[in-house]
Amino acid sequence: MSEDDAVRATNDDATSCKRSAVQMSYWQDPYIQYFIRAGERKAPEINRGYYARVKGIQVLLKQFLELTKCNCQIINLGAGFDTTFWNLKDEGMAPVSFIEMDFQGVVNRKAYYIKNRKPLLDKLSSEDCEVHFNGSDLHSAQYHVVSADLRNLSELSSKLKDCAVDYTLPTVFIAECVLVYMPSESSSALLTWIAQNFQTAFFINYEQVVMGDRFGQVMVENLKSRGCILAGVEHCRSLETQKHRFLSAGWESAAAKDMLDIYKCLPQAEIQRLDGLELLNELHDQLLSHYCVCWAFVDRRGIGIPFPQM
Ligand code: SAM
Repeated sequence: MSEDDAVRATNDDATSCKRSAVQMSYWQDPYIQYFIRAGERKAPEINRGYYARVKGIQVLLKQFLELTKCNCQIINLGAGFDTTFWNLKDEGMAPVSFIEMDFQGVVNRKAYYIKNRKPLLDKLSSEDCEVHFNGSDLHSAQYHVVSADLRNLSELSSKLKDCAVDYTLPTVFIAECVLVYMPSESSSALLTWIAQNFQTAFFINYEQVVMGDRFGQVMVENLKSRGCILAGVEHCRSLETQKHRFLSAGWESAAAKDMLDIYKCLPQAEIQRLDGLELLNELHDQLLSHYCVCWAFVDRRGIGIPFPQM
C-alpha cells in the first residue's frame, strides 16, 4: 500500500468511528448509514472524541452560516464521506454552494454511493438543475464533489472553476484531520493561496496537537504502523504552532482551543446526557487534549466576522 493509499484509508476509519458514535446516540445523522455498513462498536473514548470533533466543527460552521444568512460557500478539503451537506439541507441551512474535495479514489466511491442511494441523490436534484457526472466528479445546483490533490494548487483551482466558485462570496473552509497528512510546505502554500484569493474566508481546522509528548508520540507511531506518515506534524506541536501557521500564511486573525477545553464548555445537561451513554476510562481526557480546533479568517469584504464563541 502506498503512503497516499494509507492516507485515503483514514477516511474509512473516520467514517466507521462516526457511524459507531451515531449508533450509540452521541448525535443524530440519518445519512452516515449510506456511506458505511454498521461495524464494530468503538471504545467509549473514541465515540466521545468523535462527538467533540463533530460538535466543535458544527458550532463554528453554524455561527458562520447564521452570520452570512447562508449566503456563502462551504469548501470541505479532504471531505471523505462527510455528511454535513445533507444534514444542513434538512435543517434549511445549506449554503449557496457546498464543494467537497478529496483524492480521486475517495471521490469515486462517494459519487457512486450518492448516485445509487436515493435519499442522498434526492437532496441534490432541483427543478432547474440536474445532477451530472464528469469522470469521478459530481456537480449539482448546490453540491459538488470533485477530485483534487490538495498539494497541487493548479489542479485545485481548476476544479474550483468547474464548481463555479465565487471568490467574492464569503467562504468557510473545513479541514477535518487532513492538513496533518500533507507536507508542511504544501499545507502552507494552500493556506496562503486561500488567504490571497478569497476576499472573505473563514477556516476551521481540526487536528492533532501536543504531538511531542509521550501520548502524542504513541499516536504518531500508531499511524506509522498503518503506513500513514504525519508529514505535517510540525504544525501540531502546540496551540501556538497551530495559530502561527495561519498568521504566517497571511490570515488576519487566528485562535485555537484543545478539545478537552471545548468539551468542558458544553452545557451541563449535554454533559450529563453523554455521561449516561457509556462509562469512560482514564484515556478520555488525554485523548481530547491531543486534538484541537483552530480557526482563522481574512475579511476584505468587511462582513464583520466576530471572534466566534466556543
Ligand atoms: N474530513 C473527513 C472526516 O473527518 O470525516 C475525512 C478525514 S480522513 C482522516 C482524511 C481525508 O483527507 C481522507 O479522505 C484523505 O483522502 C484526504 N486527504 C489527505 N490528503 C489529501 C490530499 N493531499 N488531497 C486530497 N485529499 C487528501
